[in-house]
Amino acid sequence: MEACGLGAPAAKGFAATPPRFLCDWSLGGLARWLRAAGYEARQGAARQGDRLLEEAARGGFVLLTSESRLLERRPPREGAVLALWIPSAFSKREQLAMVMRDLGLQPRAARCMACGGELQPTPKESVRARIPPRTALWRDEYFLCAGCDRLFWRGTHWERISGALRVAAGT
Ligand SMILES: [Zn+2]
Repeated sequence: MEACGLGAPAAKGFAATPPRFLCDWSLGGLARWLRAAGYEARQGAARQGDRLLEEAARGGFVLLTSESRLLERRPPREGAVLALWIPSAFSKREQLAMVMRDLGLQPRAARCMACGGELQPTPKESVRARIPPRTALWRDEYFLCAGCDRLFWRGTHWERISGALRVAAGT
């Protein structure tokens, strides 16, 4: 892992304010997994290059990029950007593990993988019409995304991601 940018915060500095991530165009899968781990993660538009650095600086994002060329350039404002180089050959799981380990992060309450919104517990009865009948038989806990209104429950996909997050965090 390479880290660049002046004044890169120590991992401990994230305890109070969790880092927010800006992923380059090739790391959309990682952005989704970071949201599942409870972190805000945006994906930049294709081939933005320098604009990604600017956006990261402006918004206080940690920039995640698989383009080492981008990291060879200097951030537009001094000391503003922490950027991590993520190998594109890594699987999403390995990329997530790398970010969590290198920044000393622990999984937080999951966010919507699609939009990053907060997931709010919701009574089963209020969403019953949207639950696949077989799922309704064996799950009683449901969550709605505050951002896009997507419905979530702890199904096999969620369990698989949770397992990967625990591995990534080394717990
Ligand atoms: Zn959402």
